[in-house]
Amino acid sequence: MAEKVSSQMFPLLPLRGTLVFPYMVTPLEVGRPRSIEAIEQAVVGDGRIVLAAQHHVQTEEPQPEDIYTVGTLCEIKQILKVPEGQVRILVEGLSRVTLEHIDDANGYYEAFVTVVPEIDGEMHSLELEALVRSVQEEFGKYVRLGKKIPAEVLMSVTSIEDPHRLADTIASQLLISFQEKQKLLEIFPVDKRLEAILGLLFREGEILGLEKSIQQRVRKQMEKAQREYYLREQIKAIQVELGERDEKGKTEIEELKDRLQEARLPKEAKAKVLHEIHRLERMPPMSAEATVVRNYIDWMLSLPWSKRTRDRLDLNVAEEMLNEDHCGLDQVKERILEFLAVRQLTKNSKGPILCLVGPPGVGKTSLAQSVGRALNRNFARLSLGGVRDEAEIRGHRRTYIGSMPGRIIQTMRTVGSRNPVIVLDEIDKLASDFRGDPASALLEVLDPEQNSSFVDHYLEVPFDLSEVFFITTANVLHTIPPPLRDRMEVISIPGYTEYEKFEIAKRHLWPKQLEANGLKPEQIQISDNTIYKVINEYTKEAGVRTLERRLGTICRKVATEIVKGQTTSARITVSNLHKYLGVRRYIPTAADREDKVGVATGLAYTQVGGEILTIEVTVVEGKGKLTLTGKLGDVMRESAQAALSYVRSRAAELGIDPKFHETKDIHMHIPEGAVPKDGPSAGITIATALASALTNRPVRHDVSMTGEITLRGRVLPVGGIKEKLLAAHRAGIARVLLPAENEKDLEEVPANILSKMRITLVDHMDQVLAHALHLEAVAPETPAFMLPETPPVGSEQWMGEHEA
Ligand code: ADP
Repeated sequence: MAEKVSSQMFPLLPLRGTLVFPYMVTPLEVGRPRSIEAIEQAVVGDGRIVLAAQHHVQTEEPQPEDIYTVGTLCEIKQILKVPEGQVRILVEGLSRVTLEHIDDANGYYEAFVTVVPEIDGEMHSLELEALVRSVQEEFGKYVRLGKKIPAEVLMSVTSIEDPHRLADTIASQLLISFQEKQKLLEIFPVDKRLEAILGLLFREGEILGLEKSIQQRVRKQMEKAQREYYLREQIKAIQVELGERDEKGKTEIEELKDRLQEARLPKEAKAKVLHEIHRLERMPPMSAEATVVRNYIDWMLSLPWSKRTRDRLDLNVAEEMLNEDHCGLDQVKERILEFLAVRQLTKNSKGPILCLVGPPGVGKTSLAQSVGRALNRNFARLSLGGVRDEAEIRGHRRTYIGSMPGRIIQTMRTVGSRNPVIVLDEIDKLASDFRGDPASALLEVLDPEQNSSFVDHYLEVPFDLSEVFFITTANVLHTIPPPLRDRMEVISIPGYTEYEKFEIAKRHLWPKQLEANGLKPEQIQISDNTIYKVINEYTKEAGVRTLERRLGTICRKVATEIVKGQTTSARITVSNLHKYLGVRRYIPTAADREDKVGVATGLAYTQVGGEILTIEVTVVEGKGKLTLTGKLGDVMRESAQAALSYVRSRAAELGIDPKFHETKDIHMHIPEGAVPKDGPSAGITIATALASALTNRPVRHDVSMTGEITLRGRVLPVGGIKEKLLAAHRAGIARVLLPAENEKDLEEVPANILSKMRITLVDHMDQVLAHALHLEAVAPETPAFMLPETPPVGSEQWMGEHEA
């Protein structure tokens, strides 16, 4: 179609930011006066005009060098004048031209141009055909990706067969910069142009593809974020409905996290709790496992990891407090104060654990409580009696449903500070079996080297127990596992004398009971003698627990009378005591005693302190059978055998038929058969009862004794002398035979008791018999209960001492 025009002059319209390709029909807005003038000149001429782009869009008055040297010769199809001096024209591209020269002498641009003919290039026609198809195909993809080019354009492009037309149509449709379009315009051979277009299509296709995937990704992310936000809001609404969020809108998890911040846990524990909180967050809240985890977190957060109370360091105040709470016990208090002093000086809490040993009711637990008060520490009591499972101390692993920390950690939670005083009661009653050894777990609790990182199976992380002041209590020392015993500083509280009990009752128990029962001192009075009567006839114990209960009973009865209006005040006296406490429970043991054949009084040391122990022996005709009854342990049985052998070996001296072991049956019984008895310390008592029964010489009722016997009759030392003497004193027996080697133990016995006792030290059984047996035998036919009654002198005298 290109006309054969060589160089010719045409008006020139510089274009800003756009191009017109041959074959294209394009509307243009024209505003610059020179351009409008050029259009007018063109219309005056043959209607043709040269369009060429200027290099820079913003140049208002371009110079010739500002205009590209390749442009398009067009024909103006329409002109429309619009308001504000603008002109809209519709042009059709005719052919490429090269601008040789530009002239603006006449108030508009004129260009001297050469028309560029259409050049096919060097390409083979088939090759060109293939190129055309590729371009069409790529353009198809480009249009589908971009969506900005109308589908009709694609339709018309696929129908174009002429490569020149195709190339320029596509070039004008591409969404590329005008500079790039200008480059396409400047490529004259059509094959080269098509190749350039194909390259551009590839590149644009790729960019569009990338754009699309980026858009998709971004959209997906946006959608996800939005979706999550929406879901979370929904969950929140549901949780509020279900009451799982509190009024502040906090979830359980948030609240747990807050609590974790406040609890000031050590690093390891904190990490563990955080981990569990995250686990809980991902669990269905009502599941069994969530309950387990929740429970665990709750335990961890409620332990006193870093809470402590401030210690009172003034020893004088501590001493005052100990005295306030307990009377007597001077040695014990002194030991406790020394202990506190040393702990203060060494400034570390490590050191032996205190162990208070003594019979029940002597104030071991309440003394420990006073230590807590004196130190201004929290106090808790933990009873170990019957604990036989290690897990009770150290807890169960969390794999068990309903598992819990052990008692130590439970106590720490209740007590609420990390430096309390904890009393471990009845450490001598620990048992052990197949479920593990609680003693070894306890060892870890008590050992200052280990207890700073005590690991409870349930908690799984160490808890520091090193600031806890442990005090243990026990009734007897010998059942405490030796490794535990080694770690403890033993302080023994042996039991109280009658006088001490009286003091305790008067100064502590009585006022305590008045207060507990809401009575004022003027409403109830009790005489000293009455208190003694309560002690002797209504209690039988080493401590003061029953005494306290009896006094409580009196107060309760009086309180009832007062409330009923029967009286306004009461005086409790020796004569009206039975009204409150009923008939007396214990007749002081010695009161109903008399000298009997075959009945000897021993002294025993039991869990409740010292006791008196009656041993009865009967001899009947028979074949030499020995029967032992009264629930005796092995040691005691052996001791009985030894005693028998001794008596046999001394038969001649004692005037016993040497063949008695063939002609007589012997029955030995220790009353209160339901109470198990064991130990070697009844040896000399058994021998005395045997000798008495075989010789018919009565045993003096006012003599009691204790000591182990050997086959040769030697008397060996035994334990619990102080408690035994207290028991003898309680029972009103003044004369006591003790092994000579126990003399040293008499130092521990209170002086006021010793002064009232007549103690004889013996080292051989012959001496025992000499002191205990009457010289004269009674008639063998006379049964023991027919003996003439001797008045119960000992008891009366003893009772009288206080009545006076
Ligand atoms: P334990 O632990 O030795 O079995 P407790 O500590 O339970 O005995 O004491 C029993 C009661 O006796 C408590 O009320 C205690 O206050 C009181 N008590 C024991 N000894 C004394 C004492 N020396 N002074 C004051 N009260 C005492």
